[in-house]
Amino acid sequence: MVATGGMTKEKTKAYCRKCRHEQLFVMRKMHHGLHFFFSLVTLGLWLVSWLALYVGLRLNPWSCQQCGDVNPIFPDKPDAPPRGEGQ
Ligand SMILES: [Zn+2]
Repeated sequence: MVATGGMTKEKTKAYCRKCRHEQLFVMRKMHHGLHFFFSLVTLGLWLVSWLALYVGLRLNPWSCQQCGDVNPIFPDKPDAPPRGEGQ
């Protein structure tokens, strides 16, 4: 994915497998400050959950506004993962 601009809440339209319809997908955000706080409170134990959540969010950053599904099908790039060519 190409990062353009610094929008705080990004949205995109994509096909949702659960809704079986085109839906609006929102980019999921992480509250790193909150996770940092939890990590302090749990003496670092929370770092594991933090990392797991972060990886999951990086893998599936989009979430359906209707059903919360995180596996949208984008019209410009079908099921196959994009090849990192060029840039
Ligand atoms: Zn959906």
